[in-house]
Parts: sequence; structure tokens; C-alpha cells
Amino acid sequence: MSHIIHRNLHQPPPVAVRASGITVTDSSGREYIDASGGAAVSSLGHAHPEVLAAMHAQIDRNAYAHTAFFTCEAAEQLAARLAADAPGDLDHVYLVSGGSEAMETALKLARQYWLEEGQPQRSVFIARRQSYHGNTLGALAVGGNEWRRAPFAPLLVDVPRVSPCYEYRERTDGQSTADYTAALLRELEHAILAAGPENVIGFVAETVVGATAGAVPPTPGYFRGVRKLCDQYGLLLILDEVMCGMGRCGTLYAFEQEGVLPDLVVLGKGLGAGYQPIGAVLARQHIVQRLRDGSGAFQHGHTYMGHPVAAAAALAVQNVIRRDNLLGAVIVRGAALRRMLRDAFGEHPHVGDIRGRGLLIGLELVKDRDSKAPFDPMRRLHAAIKEEAMARGLMVYPMGGTIDGRRGDHVLLAPPFIASEAQ
Ligand code: PLP
Repeated sequence: MSHIIHRNLHQPPPVAVRASGITVTDSSGREYIDASGGAAVSSLGHAHPEVLAAMHAQIDRNAYAHTAFFTCEAAEQLAARLAADAPGDLDHVYLVSGGSEAMETALKLARQYWLEEGQPQRSVFIARRQSYHGNTLGALAVGGNEWRRAPFAPLLVDVPRVSPCYEYRERTDGQSTADYTAALLRELEHAILAAGPENVIGFVAETVVGATAGAVPPTPGYFRGVRKLCDQYGLLLILDEVMCGMGRCGTLYAFEQEGVLPDLVVLGKGLGAGYQPIGAVLARQHIVQRLRDGSGAFQHGHTYMGHPVAAAAALAVQNVIRRDNLLGAVIVRGAALRRMLRDAFGEHPHVGDIRGRGLLIGLELVKDRDSKAPFDPMRRLHAAIKEEAMARGLMVYPMGGTIDGRRGDHVLLAPPFIASEAQ
């Protein structure tokens, strides 16, 4: 019997004993192709020698020193690298241990910014109906995954919610993409006005939606319109790039393809590529300057923040991505994979849509292509797909979210950037 509270309490998962390249091996010797990078985490595949070497070297020098007492070279170098590679004045970095922690950090940093601006009445985040920002209570509150939220709803702060940008399901027949986008922006403006712009801290969204809808890119101009509204009404724009960032979509940050600069960026997953638990928030100059000129400190902190080994691993990951031009590989492989998927499943009666950016790819599953009706029940569909794939030695990530009761079941593919075309 396992003493771990596993994700499935009836059936513990196989025991992973080895992992290398794009393959994970379990204790029975069975090999699995990691076509989802876990959950879009393992961007360099497994056991990358340079990342392992960087971790070993860091462990030998200094495995841990608390950030209330010390900083460390690895964290400083990682922050400098992230700041140098980020567009605009996203020059400041707060290092934590994962995506949810990073999202909590961004929410609190945004709130403290307005406090120190002398606007303590700003207490509202506007978020979207279909999104996932993490499993901790603050992140769940701004998230829109109804299945994950439901049991904890009484514990969650209520936030105004607008429609996601989800063209496949939400654009009506006869509506152009431009009209659909304009309608979404009008809806956001109404939500800002309804809350009172002077009460709103900011708008929170995933640049490319990951696990709730399955690699859904925004429509052209959507985020430029969002940025304009945020500027017009004085809101901060907080983009969650935990899944879509760090090269997954073919640029280091997914928002680079949208022509906008957010005020805060939330990172996780691909930052450390699974080698260590690490997440981060990138903040623009004016946010940190306000705190520096005010109280002089961000009122936050975690025991494992800025962890030297995690920072060393993430720095090595970022160095390899840059040196090996893996962003270029993501674009080429992503296009090839989408083409192959369209050839294989483009006419499949139960595949409604094949979409994504770079190596973040979603296949939306439907019972009926015309009505886009989903299969029932949702959890059984996801479990069955995963089980069948694992039985065939393949890791894919079946997921689904709900908007107003309408589902978006999908299989997410997010292979390592190092995968060859043949693999
Ligand atoms: N934000 C997004 C977009 C995510 O996909 C996830 C995880 O799937 C999170 C936040 C939460 O990250 P973590 O699981 O590392 O806490």
C-alpha cells in the first residue's frame, strides 16, 4: 500500500525509475514517450547532462542559504538573464517554487503596488471564465476552471469574470474574428466600468490558454485591445505564462507574439523544465520603483524562494535553450507536428479542432463535430484516454474546462523542444 495521497486514490500510478531524453521508464521496464513534457514542463527532456552538471556543481558549493540572510550567485545570474531576455523594462524578478506560488506572488505584488500608490481601494482583479492559474486559494479565485474551483468555492474571493478568447467554441456563425474580438473587448470594458475602474487592481489572463481549454491562442489584436483598456482605465496587466512561456510557443514569452508588454508576468513549469521546483514573477520597473520609494519591501516571502539549486538548474536550462537555438526548433517542430496531426486526425469524427502555438498543441475532442457536443462524463473520458495512451507507452495530457456548463475536452501535446521530427 502506498502512503502517498496520490492524484487517484484508487490506483497509484506506475513508479518512474529512470528518465532520459524524451523517455520515462517505469519499474517494470516499460518505456513511455513523454509527448506532453509531463504537463508542459520538460522542455529539455530528461537527464540533460548540462543541467545535471549545473545542479551537481551548485549542490557541492551551496545547497541552501535562507534569503532572509543571503542572496546567491545562481539566483542573481538567473534573474539577470531573465531580465536581459525579457522585452521592455521587465527588469525585476521574484523567484519562488512553482506556478501557483508565482501567481499568488503576482496578485500580492499588484495589490501592494496600488497600496503604495495611495490607492488602497483597489482590491478587485478581473479574470476570465476559462483559465487555470494554480491550485492555491488566491490562484483558484482568479482561475476559471469550474471543476477545480467547485469544492472550494466558499473559500474563494469572488472576482468579476469575462469570457475567454476561445474562438472555436465561442465565435458565432456569421461573426468575423475581428467582430468576435471587438465583442470580447467590449465585455471587458463593461466589467471594468461595472467594478469601477478606480477599484480594479488589474486583469489576469493566460496569454495562450493551457490546461483548461487546450492550447488556445488569442485572436489577432485581442491582447493589444486588452492592453489599451488597461492603460485607459489604469489597470495592471498580469499575464500567466506558467504553461505557455519560456519558449513553449516559439518565443521566450508568448506575449512577444501579441505586441504587448504586460506589467507582471507569471512563470513556472518550463523555467526549470522539471529539474527543480521553480517559478518566478517578472515585474516592470514602475512596480518595483513604487515599492522602493515607498515601504522599501515587498511584504511576502517563502522559505524556499530563490533556492540556489533550483536557480542553477533554471539558469542552465535557459542557457541551453539559447545556445542550441531551441526556440527555432520549437517553431519548426511545432509546425511539423500540427501538420502531422492534421493529416492523421483532421477528418476524425471526434476531433473538433487542432490548434496551438509552437510545441503547445491541443486536440479538442467532441462527440459530434457539427454540434461540438462533448462526451460524458468528462472525468471518465480523460481517464480513459490517459490509460489507453499509457498502455501504449505514450504520455499525453487529457484535460478540459467548462464555460457556463459548456466543455472543452482536449488532449494536450507539449513534447520536449529537443524531440526530433521522427520522434
Ligand atoms: N498557471 C498555469 C497557466 C498553469 O498551467 C499552471 C499549472 O498547470 C499553474 C499556473 C500552476 O502551476 P503549479 O502547478 O506549478 O503550481
